[in-house]
Amino acid sequence: MIGEEQTPSVLLIEDDHQMLRFLKALLRSSEYRLRCEATGEAGIAAAAAMRPDIVLLDLGLPDIDGHLVVERLRAWSLAPVIVISAREGDDDKVGALDRGADDYLTKPFSSTELLARVRVALRHARQRATGAQSPVFESGDLRVDLARHEALRAGVKIQLTPVEFRVLAALVREAGRVLTHRQILREVWGPGSVEQTHYVRVYMGHLRRKLERDPARPQHLLTEPGVGYRLQ
Ligand code: CA
Repeated sequence: MIGEEQTPSVLLIEDDHQMLRFLKALLRSSEYRLRCEATGEAGIAAAAAMRPDIVLLDLGLPDIDGHLVVERLRAWSLAPVIVISAREGDDDKVGALDRGADDYLTKPFSSTELLARVRVALRHARQRATGAQSPVFESGDLRVDLARHEALRAGVKIQLTPVEFRVLAALVREAGRVLTHRQILREVWGPGSVEQTHYVRVYMGHLRRKLERDPARPQHLLTEPGVGYRLQ
């Protein structure tokens, strides 16, 4: 039995009854403490009162826009926000991520997918809070060590240019989480370059050719269509 302090608290801001039922059952059976609110204003007030460990946020709310909820939460809260989006347009997700949301799921999604995203977001938040980010990313035959400034595939060191390494490092620091084109551009090239999305595409191509077994079917450097990239 996990102690009350260790059980992460989840604030769910969602007005769709069917989605609410599904998420409630799922999160309670996974032993998260859960509070649900059906409007943006009530959600923000609940966040201020309970200080949740993580927020799951529907973008289409009856009172205020979900993007505004992200902005208002980010003004004072570091709790990760995972956006639940039913909308078709990628701009909605991108807009929420650029405003400080941590990740997104598009309806319909599987329970496994949701729980995995929640775990990744909670882990990142814990690491940020304790300053305990690991400098090493390891998955399959790929190993990236930020402290040693090296990338290895199947034990063999891969030669990367300084910019290639910076792009890879940005993804490693947020491993498992989606990064938008703008976030990668700002991080690697600076705030003046956030519109140059072709830079990212070119460098992801280089990285895939060097790091992926089959660059056409990447296992690690995944494209999130219309949004950005995720290191898996
Ligand atoms: Ca809704």
